Amino acid sequence: MSIRSQIDFLKDKLSDDVKIVAVSKFHSAECIAEAYRAGLRIFGENRAQELIAKRKVLPDDIEWHFIGPLQTNKVKDIAPFVHTIQSVDSLKLLQEIDRQAAKQSRIIRILLEIRIAEEESKHGFIPEKCEKILANENVIANFPNIRIGGLMGMATFTEDEEQIRKEFRLLHDLFKDYKSSFFEKCDHFTELSMGMTGDYEIAISEGSTMVRIGSLIFGDRNLCK
Ligand SMILES: *Cc1c(COP(=O)(O)O)cnc(C)c1O
Repeated sequence: MSIRSQIDFLKDKLSDDVKIVAVSKFHSAECIAEAYRAGLRIFGENRAQELIAKRKVLPDDIEWHFIGPLQTNKVKDIAPFVHTIQSVDSLKLLQEIDRQAAKQSRIIRILLEIRIAEEESKHGFIPEKCEKILANENVIANFPNIRIGGLMGMATFTEDEEQIRKEFRLLHDLFKDYKSSFFEKCDHFTELSMGMTGDYEIAISEGSTMVRIGSLIFGDRNLCK
């Protein structure tokens, strides 16, 4: 299966208003270029150094999303160009992204990552913590170089579809709740980033606006060139 035919297959399954983030971590710049030629423009990476190296050799109009755990000392490396940081799960990270974005005279869009999965290993804010920060920190006024664009979450890695559905539904409920409580006057709190290769169809049926798809487009990461 070629990358192009996989993308066509995926696009057939999604309505036009659902955005595809092609998760290209571990795959070569050549593979990314192939997906780019097939029409994709949003790519997701989870390591700062890998992202920086690939960006150098790929077209400028790619919208790069950072989707992995991010150390605060790495923020400055991606701040000059990153479009969206989807994996923001601490106040410290919010502060540092705002600071580095200001240095670059940029506004960086971020998504708040919420822990919806059962696994302890998964990253993200627990909902109560996120809510507390939104309620107490006046994030919109205090972080002028950040635009909070919505929420991101990863479901538990399981065969149990009902479990996955329940977790995505929880994230959608939080999204609606935060939107009305904290972002009512903001027209940019719009994205609900959920769904990967194994669970994107469930995510879509639960209201996802943005899927993050790696293996389905590029193949198995263990076999990559
Ligand atoms: C790797 C990764 C994906 C894509 O996973 P696939 O199962 O290959 O589609 C999506 N989101 C995050 C945060 C990831 O780290």
